[in-house]
Amino acid sequence: MPASRVVTKAVGEVLDMAPRRGEVSLNRLVSAVSVNRGRLIEIRMADLPAGVCGQWRQYADHDVFLVQNGLPTWERTLAHELGHLVLGHEGMPVTELARDVTEEAGDDLINYMLNQRTGCMGPSGEDAEQQAEDFAALLIYRLGRMPSDRSSLVQIRLGEAFG
Ligand SMILES: [Zn+2]
Repeated sequence: MPASRVVTKAVGEVLDMAPRRGEVSLNRLVSAVSVNRGRLIEIRMADLPAGVCGQWRQYADHDVFLVQNGLPTWERTLAHELGHLVLGHEGMPVTELARDVTEEAGDDLINYMLNQRTGCMGPSGEDAEQQAEDFAALLIYRLGRMPSDRSSLVQIRLGEAFG
């Protein structure tokens, strides 16, 4: 099934943010999205509950993508979480709300986790999950088709991506 126009557009926008020179890897794309939004995105390996591949944690001032330790398909999970973020799944309203609160509450709440989305790859009845899956599949496909000196998807070592 072809990805929806919303997903195709989002993938195009993310690829447009890629550095014009040098190799384009998934973690570089995540950095580019981070710069574009003016919000830090951290990527971390973590021991998540069994059966969970990835998790997106939204804090007041940054985002964290957690990827299950030792997951062989970690690029796919990372791309999936990025998809949720750029497609705006459970993002802004909660963040805006908390920003107002933290102005009075101070530093303790600034680092308080606002929201999280936990999930795994695979068929899901939820539209947001299907969209994130389509985003991940298309992004990885298009990354793989970039000129070989620019795509480093297969060359990234885990230590580089998560160190
Ligand atoms: Zn998901």
